Amino acid sequence: MRKTILMAVLAFVALTARAQDVVCHRGYWDTEGSAQNSIRSLVKADSIGAWGTEFDVWMTADGVLVVNHDATFQGITIETANWRQLKNLHLDNGEPLPTLEKMLNRAKTLKIKLVLELKPHTSKDLEREAVAKIVAMVKKMGLEERMEYITFSFSGMKELKEKAPAGTPVYYLNGDLSPFQLSEYDVAGIDYSIRVMREHPQWIDEAHSLGMKVNVWTVNSDRDMEWCIHYGVDYITTNAPEKLQQMLGDNP
Ligand code: MG
Repeated sequence: MRKTILMAVLAFVALTARAQDVVCHRGYWDTEGSAQNSIRSLVKADSIGAWGTEFDVWMTADGVLVVNHDATFQGITIETANWRQLKNLHLDNGEPLPTLEKMLNRAKTLKIKLVLELKPHTSKDLEREAVAKIVAMVKKMGLEERMEYITFSFSGMKELKEKAPAGTPVYYLNGDLSPFQLSEYDVAGIDYSIRVMREHPQWIDEAHSLGMKVNVWTVNSDRDMEWCIHYGVDYITTNAPEKLQQMLGDNP
């Protein structure tokens, strides 16, 4: 009898507790043979059973979508370069600099959620074009259900909301707007730095009360992980996904 009650309580806790999920920041790169924003980091993130993997996207002057964090790669500014100037360059782990097309093609064979960061381009027109190309490619690949979009760009956020299929989660990264201020744009939630969130811990409950989710980056120390777990952050973006999984008691 006592065991039955215990089981019922545990089931209730499992049903009511807010899930807390691990997002690999720029893929799972801090591991053998991997590199930031590489195909390998995508595959590694999937292999450990992380909920999602984040990666950064730029568009070249000739309209090729490239996965890279910085505006430049090996001294070449992606936004003003043509793809032929970049296509023979390699990441630290020896992989060619990946295009989004190549990344998504590999993702099709995996299960992990894809958190695509649209980088802020120098003009709204370029961002608009990048968003149109991203959304069309994702549709063509049949990956719409697995996509989430994030961006520091306020105009990019609105563009993603408009062009991605209804219900696609779009998060704002810039940390300058409260959940209440963002709520009129119908975004899925806030995706703010741990520094911003420690300054505004009340934004977590505020977001939840508005039906929004909270993602926090880049959460690497034990102390920051514990803070996010304690405050009920929904998605925790980290460079140390296996440590976080252990802390959350995840058994992938
Ligand atoms: Mg990013």
